[in-house]
Amino acid sequence: MVIAAVNDEEVVRNVLTAVKPFIGQGKVADYIPDLARVDPRQFGLALATADGEVHTAGDVTTRFSLQSIIKVFGLALVLSRDSDAVWKRVHREPAGTPFNSLVQLEMERGIPRNPFMNAGALVITDQLLTDRGDAFDAVRTFLRAESSNPEVQADTVTATSEATNGFRNAAMANLIADFGNLTNPVDRVLDHYFRQCALMLNCHELARAALFLARDGIRQDGSRILSARDAKRINAIMLTCGTYDAAGDFAYRIGLPCKSGVGGGIVAIVPGRYALAAWGPGLDQKGSSVAAAAALEAFVSLTGCSIF
Ligand code: GLN
Repeated sequence: MVIAAVNDEEVVRNVLTAVKPFIGQGKVADYIPDLARVDPRQFGLALATADGEVHTAGDVTTRFSLQSIIKVFGLALVLSRDSDAVWKRVHREPAGTPFNSLVQLEMERGIPRNPFMNAGALVITDQLLTDRGDAFDAVRTFLRAESSNPEVQADTVTATSEATNGFRNAAMANLIADFGNLTNPVDRVLDHYFRQCALMLNCHELARAALFLARDGIRQDGSRILSARDAKRINAIMLTCGTYDAAGDFAYRIGLPCKSGVGGGIVAIVPGRYALAAWGPGLDQKGSSVAAAAALEAFVSLTGCSIF
């Protein structure tokens, strides 16, 4: 259904209308017990424009844990320092496997398929620890600045809940270390990874925080975190790998660089124009929010904004 929309404010209102039937659909992530307690009947949407306006609809003040969305920020910080060295430690190919798969790791000798799978994010976390001495704090500092919320924090209950049940991520980190692709102790890398995943933002803050990817690497204060080339490259990896074994379907339905997280958030970038953050805790079988994906699909049909 195409509804004519004349301005950004009207677009977000119309997206909310279109998404109502999907709110509450899907299943909250329960392999992290703390996430299983979240009410699935929530939904928020924020559209940040390249010149810094933010338009919102639904519940945009409730914070949720970013989970895998944080991987975009970690990668940006690593690339901002040494843009090419990291590609010796992690590939940038779609995997076609779930986000927490170990299969390719063994066959490819501890070099993860891409930085957005858990295995790749563990390597990026290790690189951040080496480059900056602290991966969690580096990412939190960046989020605080870009979201204009100096109080941004990780939910320690969520981080502990994941750490206590994180056997698969621990297996992955140990396998990567066995192949010699971690330089910091396994437990330290895991601790920083779990705490990064538990960082909390609301949709309004998240859309603002991701805006540098729509602005060729330019931050809120006008300084540059990335070259335009590296910003474009992150968007390319989001498109091809940001939603794991659903990346093809996301390209087909939405056609924008997207990054999902099992907290129910999805960030999408319209290069040069917008950063969007949509959130609904109910997930599909591949770990992406049903309502947030429906919102992005509605946004693209309303505006025609797709990179294709
Ligand atoms: N913290 C989660 C995990 O490692 C992130 C996964 C996700 O959001 N897809 O399993």
